[in-house]
Amino acid sequence: MSQKRDFYEILGVSKNADDAEIKKAYRKLALKYHPDKNPDDASAEEKFKEAAEAYEILSNAEKRAQYDRFGHAGVGGQGGFGGGGMNMDDIFSQFGDIFGGAFGGGGSFGGSRGGGSRVVRGTNLRVKMKLTLEEIAEGVKKKIKVNKLVNAEGVTYKNCQTCNGTGRITRVAQTFLGAMQTQSTCHTCQGAGKMIDKKPADSDAHGLKKQEEVIEIDIPAGVEEGMQLSVSGKGNAGPFNGVPGDLIVVIEEIEHPELKRDGENLHYDAYVNFVDAVLGESIEIPTVNGKAKIKVEPGTQSGKVLRLKGKGLPHVQRYGTGDLFVHINIWTPKKVSKEEREILEKLKQSDNFKPNPDQNDKSFFKRMKDMFQ
Ligand SMILES: [Zn+2]
Repeated sequence: MSQKRDFYEILGVSKNADDAEIKKAYRKLALKYHPDKNPDDASAEEKFKEAAEAYEILSNAEKRAQYDRFGHAGVGGQGGFGGGGMNMDDIFSQFGDIFGGAFGGGGSFGGSRGGGSRVVRGTNLRVKMKLTLEEIAEGVKKKIKVNKLVNAEGVTYKNCQTCNGTGRITRVAQTFLGAMQTQSTCHTCQGAGKMIDKKPADSDAHGLKKQEEVIEIDIPAGVEEGMQLSVSGKGNAGPFNGVPGDLIVVIEEIEHPELKRDGENLHYDAYVNFVDAVLGESIEIPTVNGKAKIKVEPGTQSGKVLRLKGKGLPHVQRYGTGDLFVHINIWTPKKVSKEEREILEKLKQSDNFKPNPDQNDKSFFKRMKDMFQ
C-alpha cells in the first residue's frame, strides 16, 4: 500500500477543526467526487473513498483521538491492518448521517445503485492481546483463535416480504401540503431486502453460526497498552451475505520484570555497591533484547542517571527509537561485621568521605529537569 495521506489534509481542515467543520468539508468533497457526477473517473472515485475514510475516522471522537496519537497505525492504516479502508457500501450507508433525510437510506444516491437495498454489515469482534515488551520492541506476527459468526452453509434467501426486496418502507402521509411520501429502512431485513428462506438447524435467525477461526495478525513494533488495532473484514459475518465487520485487537502489555516503560523510553534501576561507586566498575544491565555493559565512573553519586541512546522502544508511527535510562542506586549494607565496622569507622575519619557537593553534583530535581528538556 502506498503512503496514506493525512486525514486532515484530505479534508482540508486544521488539526483542531470541530465536528461541524469536518462534516462541512466532507460534505463538499463527497458531492464533488460522487461517482454519479464523475462516471468512469477512477481518480474521482479514489478521492471519494479517501474522503469518506478520513471522515469516518475524524467524525468519531475515539477514532480521532487514536489517529491523533498514533497516526494511521492507530486506526487501521499500516502493515496488516485496515487493508483498503472503506468499501462503497460502507460509504453509502454512512450518508444517512451526514446528508440527512434528503440522501439518507435509499435516497437519491442509493437509488442509483440498483434496487436500493443495502448490504448489511456484520458486527465488530473484539479480542484482547497480551504482549511482552520483547514482542512490542520487535513487532510480532501472532496467530489467534477467535470464535466468530460466519455464514452457515446451505442457507438460501428470498425477498423480504415486508419490503418486497427493496430494503425500504414507503409510507404516504396526508399533510396540509397534500400527500407526502417518506421512506425508511425496513426493520425486518435491516435494509438488506432479503430474508432467510431455508437454513440449517445450527444457524441463527440470520443464517449465521459460530465458528472458530485462526487469524494471523501483524502487530507493528512500538504498540502500547490500550491501543486498538483494527483488521478490516475479519469480524463477524454480515447477515444476508453482507460484508463482515472488523476484528478489533486491544493491546495489553505484560509487565517486564526489570524494565519499566514510559512511552518509548525505558527505565532500569541499577544497584551498585559502595566500593564500585567509589572506584568505578563495569556493570551489566538488561535491555529489551539482551544485555548491555555500562561503565560506572569512579566517584559516581547515588541517583545518577545514565542514558543509553536508542535502547528504548521504536515509535509506532514515525521513525526513531526511545532511550534506556539507567538509574544508579548505591547499595547500602543493612548489617556489617565487627571487622567491617572498624574499617568504616576509620574511613569516616578521612576528609574525603565528608559530603562536599559542587555544581556538578546536581540535585535530583535539577537532573530530572535536564533529562526531560
Ligand atoms: Zn425488508
